[in-house]
Amino acid sequence: MTLNVGVIGVGMIGQDHIRRLTHVLSGVRVAAVTDVDLDRARTVAADLPGASVHATGEDLIADPGVDAVVVTSWGPTHEGYVLAGIAAGKQVFCEKPLATTEDACSRIVDAEVATGRRLVSVGFMRRYDDQYRAMKAVVTGGEIGVALVMHAAHRNPSVPDFFTSDMIINDSTVHDIDVARWMFDDEIAAVTVLTPRVSSKAREGFNDPLLVLLEMESGVIVDVEASVNAGFGYDIRGEVVCEDGTVELSESAGAIVKGAGRFGGRVPADWRERFVRAFDVEFQTWIDAVAAGGTAGPSAWDGYAATVACETGLRALASGVREPVTMRERPDLYKES
Ligand code: NAP
Repeated sequence: MTLNVGVIGVGMIGQDHIRRLTHVLSGVRVAAVTDVDLDRARTVAADLPGASVHATGEDLIADPGVDAVVVTSWGPTHEGYVLAGIAAGKQVFCEKPLATTEDACSRIVDAEVATGRRLVSVGFMRRYDDQYRAMKAVVTGGEIGVALVMHAAHRNPSVPDFFTSDMIINDSTVHDIDVARWMFDDEIAAVTVLTPRVSSKAREGFNDPLLVLLEMESGVIVDVEASVNAGFGYDIRGEVVCEDGTVELSESAGAIVKGAGRFGGRVPADWRERFVRAFDVEFQTWIDAVAAGGTAGPSAWDGYAATVACETGLRALASGVREPVTMRERPDLYKES
């Protein structure tokens, strides 16, 4: 069976996902696309045999030829499309964020819970990265004891002009927030944000880098150094300190070269290079699950929890003090995942 998906928003990541859905993965075809920029949608559809172009996301969702929906438009538009997908009873893969506010995420959670089944998957692709998975296997396997601390770094080489200072938390650090919840099967209890010396490369009004401290309910503390002007490459670091040892992400890309008394290797250029395989595995897993009548991957609850933690982080950045995370009760629908 071939799953016919419709893609809402064919910008940077929308086009990258269309490439993988069309040329890399199996059991799927892109049957429909839309974008606020309809010319862009038509241009993208021209390379997709038989794909239709819809004037709006709502039209695409209503198309009987679309079995499942991929939302890759700009974050503030996600809520409306995810709710429309749920109302149509279709499976939805939504790029992060699920929605940009706690209230909007909560409305999605309510709508999904009312259907009694999971229809929403959120694109936190690091959960599918081989290295993070190996790290989680060690942490949960208990071979080096109970986890105490995680050190993480999220270094972007640079960011485009539309990137605002808030996005260091709700666009970059949001991935580390999801990793922390997933790594330790735990919720975040409080967030503190420290502001080190500002990089001379930071734009006006940016606190860059940030040190984001996530206190997990278990007592584990995760420190995330988030910077968006690292210059040298896209550098993702992680080390979990346990009672009897440590586990860390290895250097990611290519071979280690030794020569002339030195050793070195390649630093990925950007997130697409670093996580290309994670995105592939994430989508193939979702496609296979949807074809089998279900879904897979981070849930609407995970999207809700990440957005709440981001909002708390922004509050902590503004206040300069530790801010507790307050979440609604987790509905039964999400208690098994
Ligand atoms: P982008 O290049 O700006 O693409 C967004 C596309 O959606 C643009 O073509 C935009 O058109 C279009 N759009 C805006 N409003 C729309 C609407 N109401 N209906 C339909 N289309 C609409 O942004 P992007 O970088 O691809 O990011 C898209 C989403 O993916 C964001 O939520 C982002 O956070 C997420 N993302 C996730 C990752 C990850 O690591 N998982 C990485 C990158 C991006 P205009 O350009 O005309 O506004």
